[in-house]
Amino acid sequence: MSTPALKIYNTLTRTKEAFRPLDPANVRMYVCGPTVYDFAHIGNARPLIVFDVLYRLLRRLYGPEHVKYVRNITDVDDKINARAAERGVTIRELTEETNRVFQEDVKALGCLPPDVQPRATEHIAQMIAIIEKLIATGHAYAADGHVLFDVPSMPAYGRLSRRSLDEMIAGARVDVAPYKRGDMDFVLWKPSKESEPGWDSPWGRGRPGWHIECSAMSWAHLGETFDIHGGGIDLVFPHHENEIAQSCCAFGQPVMANYWMHNGFLQVEGEKMSKSLGNFVTIHELLHTEKFGGRKWPGEVLRLAMLRTHYRQPIDWTVKALEEAEDELASFADLLGGDTPCEAPPPDFVSALADDLNTPNALTVLRSYAKQAKGDDAEARIALKSCLSMLGLSLDVFTKAAQEDGISPETKLFIANAVTARLAARAAKNWSESDRIRDELAAMGVALKDNKDGTTTWEVKR
Ligand code: AMP
Ligand code: ZN
Repeated sequence: MSTPALKIYNTLTRTKEAFRPLDPANVRMYVCGPTVYDFAHIGNARPLIVFDVLYRLLRRLYGPEHVKYVRNITDVDDKINARAAERGVTIRELTEETNRVFQEDVKALGCLPPDVQPRATEHIAQMIAIIEKLIATGHAYAADGHVLFDVPSMPAYGRLSRRSLDEMIAGARVDVAPYKRGDMDFVLWKPSKESEPGWDSPWGRGRPGWHIECSAMSWAHLGETFDIHGGGIDLVFPHHENEIAQSCCAFGQPVMANYWMHNGFLQVEGEKMSKSLGNFVTIHELLHTEKFGGRKWPGEVLRLAMLRTHYRQPIDWTVKALEEAEDELASFADLLGGDTPCEAPPPDFVSALADDLNTPNALTVLRSYAKQAKGDDAEARIALKSCLSMLGLSLDVFTKAAQEDGISPETKLFIANAVTARLAARAAKNWSESDRIRDELAAMGVALKDNKDGTTTWEVKR
């Protein structure tokens, strides 16, 4: 197998660089995962899909058993506490349910599961260990039940985001707290009230800050220094800057990861996605409801629509772009019989991807095979199928079109559980909860019918 050289745009150096893993035979990659308090929105799908394509490419270039991809699950966070209290459920119930839907969403988007999906709550010991190292080396201090990172103790702070400390202080909405020595110092550990989740620590019962979670989980699964760290562009500052500060100072290493990759932002129909603008859409809604463009969209359509734009460019999420992606997928499906074999993708296609994950150029190569395949060229058909498969596009939804009722077994299970929970709420005369569940199902296009015999049946409105 000839191996095209991989080049990656590195946010640290603001240049496209030749990729050289620390261990030439094994690649280690960490991507910041979701905070599981609510459905993931379509902007969150971008890093999931982008880094999945990179994962597939790395597996192709280095061999599947030589790539370790870690994407965490943040299951301790103040947003989680607030949401659980609001909904009257336990934190564990909320994070379990949100994570379950998240896993279903990413699967529908055609993403491979990462090698490890560590949970923050299972890495508290490592967080405490890092914080202790930071205190011992003079990079952190305990004050008032809190532990803070002492930003001025790290001269290289601001290297990733290229900001000076003075600029950061001037630009930030600095959260002034009496226990802080410096304006930019950030929280590593904070005290928990009785009602809040907490763990015993040398500084009393408390919980971690967000940034320390990623330093601990990447350390636990990839070591003190690794190759690639990814996430959306909004994470550069402060999250990634703070991860670097924590890990480099705790382990005495000059770098945390050698290559920092960031996807550009997604906006919807030309505007920033926001709840107040009414254009906020979750992956779940796109897949299972008629909220966007009045219809449901198969995961592969969402995936192709995402990959038509280079990952560092902003992307405009429009109904028109989804329709175009769907037409294009259908045209590929027409060219391929179910029996077209899948082989190693052609080198010109892999080279395009290896050039900083240039999916638009890779799709141009793929389209040239589709064009040849129209002339009944069997080799071109195999090449087309192999390129699609490398991008995680199986065309399953087109080849299995009109299959059954089109509802996934996971979704059926979700509906069945919701119906049972609603019956229980009604039995307890908890009408607001029963209405909430009915409305939630209605938003998914599921209509409930309460029968005279006390049972409830459901149907999906088309
Ligand atoms: P969050 O839950 O906000 O931490 O986001 C999870 C991931 O999604 C992070 O990598 C974010 O950078 C990324 N992200 C959030 N919003 C968008 C957006 N509108 N477009 C692209 N990426 C986003
Ligand atoms: Zn992170």
